[in-house]
Amino acid sequence: MCVLDSSGISSTAMEKVPFLDLSSVNRCYSDRLKQAAGDAIDSGWMILGDQVEAFESEFTSCCAARHAVGVGTGLDALALMLRAQLVLGRLKLGDEVIVPANTYIATVLAISSCGLVPALAEPEATTFNLGREEALRVATEKTRAILAVHLYGRLAPMRQLGAVCTERGWILMSDAAQAAGVAPLAGKAWGACAGFSFYPAKNLGALGDGGAVVTDDEELAEVVRALRNYGSRKKYENEYSGVNSRLDEIQAAMLRVKLPGLAADNQYRRQIATRYAAEISHPSVTLPPAPDHPEEHVWHLYVVRCPRREELQKHLDACGIETLIHYPIPPHKQRAYAGTALAQANLPLTEQLAQEVLSLPIGPTQTDEQATQVIEAVNSFGR
Ligand SMILES: *Cc1c(COP(=O)(O)O)cnc(C)c1O
Repeated sequence: MCVLDSSGISSTAMEKVPFLDLSSVNRCYSDRLKQAAGDAIDSGWMILGDQVEAFESEFTSCCAARHAVGVGTGLDALALMLRAQLVLGRLKLGDEVIVPANTYIATVLAISSCGLVPALAEPEATTFNLGREEALRVATEKTRAILAVHLYGRLAPMRQLGAVCTERGWILMSDAAQAAGVAPLAGKAWGACAGFSFYPAKNLGALGDGGAVVTDDEELAEVVRALRNYGSRKKYENEYSGVNSRLDEIQAAMLRVKLPGLAADNQYRRQIATRYAAEISHPSVTLPPAPDHPEEHVWHLYVVRCPRREELQKHLDACGIETLIHYPIPPHKQRAYAGTALAQANLPLTEQLAQEVLSLPIGPTQTDEQATQVIEAVNSFGR
C-alpha cells in the first residue's frame, strides 16, 4: 500500500522521486557550462593546459591540501597514488593493504591491479566505515598500509587509523571518491594521499569521467604527475612505465564551473539527511547516524538498513520512490575475484550489509516535497 492522502485514496498521481536527477543538477550550471565548454574548444588546447592547472589549484584549496593532480578517473587516481608509493619504494610488490570489504570494487581493484594485496576488513556496524579494531584484526606481518574509504561521504576515523599507522610504520591513504568537499580535520582527513572521482553522479561531478590525487607530499604528487602522462616529466623522456590517464581540459573547465557550488550542495544534502533522521521512523529501518561534526559527512548517499530490504524497495517503488543498492555484491563475492584468496575471506557483516542496505534519494536539487514523499513512503512501509 502506498501513501494515502486524507481521503483514503492512494495518491499514485504524485510525481515520481528520482534517485538523483543529474540533468537538473547540471541545469543549474547550464549557461556557464556551455560558455566554459565553448571557451575550452576555442582555446584549441585539449590536454594538460590552463584549465587542468587552474582546476588543480582550486581543488587544492577545497581539500586544504598542497597538491592536486587531475587524472582520467577515480579508479586511476587510486591506482596511480598506489603506484607512486611503489615507485618511491615506500611500498613493494606483494605488500598487504588493509581496505574495508564493503566498498565499491574500484578500491580493491586499484590495490590488486598494481601488485599489492588487498586485506579485506569488516566495517564498523554503525558508520559503515573501517575502524581501528577491524583494521588490526586483519593485520599480518606483510601489512604496510591502510586504504580507508570515506564511504557514502562520511569521513573515516582518520585520527584513530592514523595513530595505528604511525605506531606500526604503515602508510595511511584514503579513497575519497564519495567525499568531495568533506571538511578536513586540521589536515588529517586524507592520510598521505587521497583519490577523488568526478564521475557525473558524485558530489562534484564532471560531464564525463575524471579524478584527482590529492596530497601534501610534493614528491608523491610529482610521481603521479609523471605516471598519468606515460611516466614522463619531460616530453619524450620516460622515467617510469606510466599510463595515459589525464583529466581532459574540457572536463576541468566543467569542474571549475561546478566547484564553487560544492559546499552549498553538500550543505543542502546535510539538510535532507537531517530531515530524514528527524522524520523517518520505522521499527524495521535503521538510519545512518550523523557524525558529531556535521562537516565530516557530505551525504553522497543516504543508506538505511532493513532486514526486509527487497520488500521495502518494492514498497518504495510502488510509491514512486526510486532507490538503489550500494552495493548488492561485495568485491570478494564478485566473479572477478573467484578462485583468488579474496574469495575465501570470512566477512559476515559485509555480506549481511550487502543484503540489507538501501540508498534513499538525496541530492542537491531534491525538493522539500520530494523529501516529504520519501519520508512518508518509508514510514508507511507494511502499514
Ligand atoms: C566512484 C568510486 C570510485 C571510482 O571512481 P570512478 O571515477 O568511477 O573510476 C572508487 N571508489 C569509490 C568508493 C567510488 O564510489
